[in-house]
Amino acid sequence: MRVYFETYGCTMNQGDTEIMRGIVAREHEVVNDPKKCDVAVINSCGVVQHTENKVIKRQRKLQEIGKKVLIAGCLPRINFSAVQNADGLLSPGSIDLIGEALESISRGNKFTSLMATRLEKTCMPRHRAGGMVAVVPISEGCLGRCSYCATKKARGGLKSFEPLGVVKDVKEALEKGYREIQLTAQDTAAYGADSGETLPDLLWRILEIEGEFRVRVGMMNPETAFPIFKNLMDCFSSEKLYTFLHLPVQSGDDSLLESMNRNYTVKDFAWMAKAFKKLGGTLSTDVIVGYPGEDEESFLMTYRLIEDIRPDILNIKRFSPRPGTKAAKLKDMPDRYKKERSRKLTKLHSIIGLEENKKFIGEDHMVLVTEKGKKGTMLSRTNSYKQVVINEGFLGEFKRVKIREATSTYLVA
Ligand code: SF4
Repeated sequence: MRVYFETYGCTMNQGDTEIMRGIVAREHEVVNDPKKCDVAVINSCGVVQHTENKVIKRQRKLQEIGKKVLIAGCLPRINFSAVQNADGLLSPGSIDLIGEALESISRGNKFTSLMATRLEKTCMPRHRAGGMVAVVPISEGCLGRCSYCATKKARGGLKSFEPLGVVKDVKEALEKGYREIQLTAQDTAAYGADSGETLPDLLWRILEIEGEFRVRVGMMNPETAFPIFKNLMDCFSSEKLYTFLHLPVQSGDDSLLESMNRNYTVKDFAWMAKAFKKLGGTLSTDVIVGYPGEDEESFLMTYRLIEDIRPDILNIKRFSPRPGTKAAKLKDMPDRYKKERSRKLTKLHSIIGLEENKKFIGEDHMVLVTEKGKKGTMLSRTNSYKQVVINEGFLGEFKRVKIREATSTYLVA
């Protein structure tokens, strides 16, 4: 059987696709062209309405050209009715059943398995993407109950994977030649809360592995980051750990954070963000604009927080009500306010990004070459995870470069 994969959503979902591809590749052919497949697997995301629409449109298009379509990932658990016409449905907790699902679909039967999170996703077969970057999931699900988020419905409560299994996955990726390890989870800081381990414990196990490589830790909730923050800061003393922190604040207004059930204050976030910035690392944060109840005053608080914290990366999301969430029952606001607020923050952040990046001009940095860029260039990362475009270098090479130019989102050496 020839099987085609397409992935939407986050790094965790990419990791799930790699596992499904690994299982399928043992008995079937994985193809890159959807026209040549017998079954197309769409590993879906349902985080916002816009992505849901894209997934459904893609499903229809593939079915119109006569392909059987299996929808995996978060959307079937978030909005079952939107995808019930697919030939098969698999939840993130059922990806080990991909083989059975494909067999059943190829015989003309529908296959549905929508189990909640239960899998130990380490040491599973993996068919990784090429390049230098390997995604390694460390846990799935979360401890939170954020009012706007449908991911909990899709991925469930926290399941931390065995630390020895995670270490084994990292070692295996390094042996295969990958040089950047991206540790991923719905909330990396929650790691081990269900097993007695902590994220810093896990990081030290990984950072002690011999060899030259870099580790990037994925998104963490400020609520779970706060209690481990000091120990986490200590981990950045290892040059193997990119000085990178993805800490989504979501709003600069405490009353909105309370309505979102985020369980931290703007002050808690600002304290961690500022302490981290002192290390000279790349700080990434997310904000939601247009959350129900966000008036001009609330938005201004978020705007001022961004001016004060000066994150290097700012992910702006317009609020999108998701089925089954508490926030979906609140009064939504017209899209024009969300667009306007998103535009204002984008403009502010492009000014901050350029000012921050210009500080690097003239400095020497060690970079790891991770990807091919455009027009014969290569893309690399400094130890603080800044992206640097270089003219020469080969994938996996560590080299010293001098920064010549800066844009709001990357550096040029
Ligand atoms: S975990 Fe969230 S972002 Fe990732 S695929 Fe699922 S809904 Fe999308």
